[in-house]
Amino acid sequence: MLDVPARRPTAGSALTRLHQVLAADELSRDVALAGLGRWRIGGPADLVVTPRSTESLAAALRVIAETGVPHVVIGDGSNLLFDDEGFRGVVVRVGRAFGGFAAKPDGHVEAGAGLWVPSFVRQVIEAGLAGATHAIGIPGTLGGLVTMNGGSQRRGIGENVLSVDVVKRDGTRRRIDRTELRYSYRASALQDAGAIVVAARFRFEPGDRHALRREAIGILAARRAKFPRVRANCGSVFVSDPKLYSLIGPPGLAIERAGLKGFAIGDAQISPDHANFIVNNGQARSADVLALIGLARERVRALTGIAMDAEVRHLAPDGVMRPAHEVAAVPRFIQPPGQEHRP
Ligand SMILES: Cc1cc2nc3c(=O)[nH]c(=O)nc-3n(C[C@H](O)[C@H](O)[C@H](O)COP(=O)(O)OP(=O)(O)OC[C@H]3O[C@@H](n4cnc5c(N)ncnc54)[C@H](O)[C@@H]3O)c2cc1C
Repeated sequence: MLDVPARRPTAGSALTRLHQVLAADELSRDVALAGLGRWRIGGPADLVVTPRSTESLAAALRVIAETGVPHVVIGDGSNLLFDDEGFRGVVVRVGRAFGGFAAKPDGHVEAGAGLWVPSFVRQVIEAGLAGATHAIGIPGTLGGLVTMNGGSQRRGIGENVLSVDVVKRDGTRRRIDRTELRYSYRASALQDAGAIVVAARFRFEPGDRHALRREAIGILAARRAKFPRVRANCGSVFVSDPKLYSLIGPPGLAIERAGLKGFAIGDAQISPDHANFIVNNGQARSADVLALIGLARERVRALTGIAMDAEVRHLAPDGVMRPAHEVAAVPRFIQPPGQEHRP
C-alpha cells in the first residue's frame, strides 16, 4: 500500500467559515506580504484577518482552530522577514482597532495592543509618568513591543509590564501575569505561546512632564542621526550580546570590523550608515536578506568566536516563525566584500 502523507488543511477550508463570522472588511485573500512588513519583502499570504474587535478575533481563532489551518499573528511587521514564497495560511493582524489608553496618577497604565508605540509613549509622558520614554522612536504596535520586549538604551518594556490580556487559540480570553512572561533581552514567552495580546497593563514612576518631553526629543534626534531612514528596513537585525559587547562593542561595530558594512547581495545591503541594519534597495528578496544574515553571523563568529543571534524573525511559508539566524545559511557563491558592493 502507498504511504500517502497526511494533507495539511489549506486556508481555503477556513474561508467560507471565516466569511460567516467576520465582516467583509475584516478578511482579505491573496495579500502581498511585502505590503505588511517594513522590509517591503514577501510573497502572498492566502488570507489576512484584521479583526475590528476582540469578539471578531475570538470568532476567527475558533474557526482557525476547528479547521486546523496554520496561522500567525503580526502587528506592523517591523521586526519580521516575510518569505519570497509567502505564507500558506491565515495572518491575523492586530491593528489600530485595538487601541485605548488609560493612566492613573499612581502610575498604573492600561493600553490596547494595536496602539502605535510612539503614540503610547507620548500618552505616558503626558500623563506625567516616566519609564517608557526610551521606546519613543520604535515603529510598531504595543502588542509587538510587549511580545519582543522591545526598547532602547538597553532597556526593555518588559520591566514595566504587570500583565497582558490575550486571546488564546481556542478563542478564550485570559490575563497572564508578568511572572509567566519570562522576559529576557528582546524576548518573551509570548513569542512562542500562540496567544494574541489584545491589551497590556503597566506600572510607571511619576516623572516631570517637561523633562520627559525634552528627553524624548533628544532620543528621537539621536536616532535620526544614527539610523538609516530612507531605505526600507526592519531596525536592528542582531541582538546585542554582552560578551561581544565587551570584546568589540554592539553587533553593528562587529559587522563593520568583519568588513561587511555596505556589502550587498542582490538588492539587500548591510547599511552603509549602520551595519546592524539591512536595507532593501528596491527589489530585495528574503533569500538575499537571509544570506546577508548568515554571512554576517559567520564572519563575526570567525573574528570573535561569538555567534550573534537575530532579533528579527522569519516567517516560513508553512507558518513556522523563528529568529532569522536559525534559517539563514551562508551561500557558497558569496564574493569577498567589495566585489558586490553597491555605493
Ligand atoms: C526603523 C526601525 C527601528 C527599530 N528600532 C527598534 C528599537 O530601538 N528597539 C526595539 O526593540 N525594536 C526596534 N525595532 C523593531 C520593532 O519596531 C519592534 O520589535 C516592535 O515592537 C515590533 O512591533 P510590530 O507591531 O511591528 O511587531 P511584528 O514585527 O509585526 O511582530 C513581531 C513579533 O511579535 C509578535 N506579535 C506582534 N503583535 C502581537 C500580538 N498582538 N500578540 C502576540 N504576538 C504579537 C509577532 O508574531 C512576531 O513574533 C525597530 C524597527 C524598525 C523598522
